[in-house]
Amino acid sequence: MEDIIKRKISVLGSTGSIGTQTLECAAHLGLTVSAITGNRNVRLLEEQARRFRPGIVAVPGDAEAAELKTALADTPVRVLSGEGGLEEAAVAGDTVVTAIMGTAGLLPTMAAIKEKKRIALANKETLVCAGHIVMAAAREHGAEVIPVDSEHSAIFQSMAGGRKNEVKRILLTASGGPFFGMKREDMVDITPEQALKHPNWTMGAKITIDSATMMNKGLEVIEAMHLFSVTPEMIKVVVHRQSIIHSMVQFCDNTVIAQLGTPDMRTPIQYALTYPRRLPSLAAEPDFADIGGMTFFDPDLDAFPCLRLALETAGRTDAAPAVMNAANEVAVELFLRKKLSFPGIYDAVAQAVAALGAGSADTIEDTLARDAEAREFIRRRYD
Ligand code: NAD
Ligand code: MG
Repeated sequence: MEDIIKRKISVLGSTGSIGTQTLECAAHLGLTVSAITGNRNVRLLEEQARRFRPGIVAVPGDAEAAELKTALADTPVRVLSGEGGLEEAAVAGDTVVTAIMGTAGLLPTMAAIKEKKRIALANKETLVCAGHIVMAAAREHGAEVIPVDSEHSAIFQSMAGGRKNEVKRILLTASGGPFFGMKREDMVDITPEQALKHPNWTMGAKITIDSATMMNKGLEVIEAMHLFSVTPEMIKVVVHRQSIIHSMVQFCDNTVIAQLGTPDMRTPIQYALTYPRRLPSLAAEPDFADIGGMTFFDPDLDAFPCLRLALETAGRTDAAPAVMNAANEVAVELFLRKKLSFPGIYDAVAQAVAALGAGSADTIEDTLARDAEAREFIRRRYD
C-alpha cells in the first residue's frame, strides 16, 4: 500500500476520457500527479492543475500555452509547449499514463521508455504504428509496459494462469459496437451521431467510431501481438455483446482463463497503476443475476471489412500497419466532418494501405514519414 501511494504519475491526455478517469483513480488512491497534458481544452487543464497541483502542464500549441500561463500565473505550475514539453511531461513521474489519442503518443512514450518509466499504455496507436520498435526499446531499457486497454489488461491478468509457452490462443472479446448484426450495404447512410452511440462504453470520439467500424478490434489485435509477443494467428476475436468478459487466454490443455467485471475503464486504469497489487476501486461490483446471460459470436468480416484489413495487415513488417493507423485517423476525422460516408472509412484506408503499405518503417523516423504520407494521401483525395 505505502509503495503504491508514493507513486508519481504523469497523465498524457488528462482532459480526455481515459485521462479524466485516470485523475479520478489518482485522487481515489492518493497518488501524486507530476504532470498533465492536453490539447486545446485550456479551461479543464486549468481546473485540473489547480486541483492536482502537478509540477508541469503541457500543451502542443504556443497559443494555448500562453493562455494557460496567464491563467495559472498565481501558481507554481510550469507551463510547457511543443513536442519537447510533452516529452518533459512524460518523464516527470515514475509512471506515465499514455492517454493521448493517435500517433501523437509515440514520441512521448519513447521518451518515457528511455527513462525506464512504467508505461501504463492506453494509447494503442503507438503499438500499431511502431510496436516492434517500442517493445524492443522497452526491453532494452527495462521499462515495464502495463496495458490499460480493458481487453489487454484482461489478457495480462489471465496470462498469470499459466506459463508463456503454455499459451495456445488469446481470445480477444469485442462488443460488436452499435451496428452489430447489420450488413455492409445497410450502413451507407449511417451518421456520425449514430456511430457515436456505443452500447457499453463512453469514450473519446475517435475510438468510438473505431468501435463502430470494428477497426478498434483490429488495432487491438496488433496491440496484443506486440504486448504479448504472439503471432496474429494466435489471436481470435470473439464478439461478446455484454462486455463483462474483458478477454481470455486459452492454454495448451484448452483451459480458458478470463477476467470479468463491469465495463468501467477505471478498473484497468487502476490495475496498471497498482500492479502487481490490487486495491479497492471505484468500479461497481458485477451482479451476475442482473447480467442474466452472456452471448458469443464470430465477427462478420464482410460487414466490418476494417477488421479484416487489420487482420491481414497485422503480420506485416513493412509500413502497412503504420499507414493503416494514420489513414484511419484521418478517415475517421473526415467521417465526423461528413466528408466520408461510414463505409467510405474502409475504402479510404484500404486505398492508402494498397498504395503506401509496402514502404519501410524500420525506424521511428521512417514510421513517422509513412504516417505523414498516409495522412496526406487521404486528405488529398477526400478533404
Ligand atoms: P479522448 O479523445 O477522450 O482524449 C484524448 C486526449 O489526448 C485529450 O486529452 C486530448 O487533449 C489529447 N490529444 C488529442 N490529440 C492530441 C495531440 N495531437 N497532441 C497532444 N494531445 C492530444 O480519447 P480517449 O477515449 O481518452 O482515448 C485516448 C487513448 O486511449 C486512445 O489511444 C484510445 O484508443 C485509448 N483507449 C481509450 C479507451 C476509452 O475507454 N476511452 C479505452 C481503451 C483505449
Ligand atoms: Mg479496448
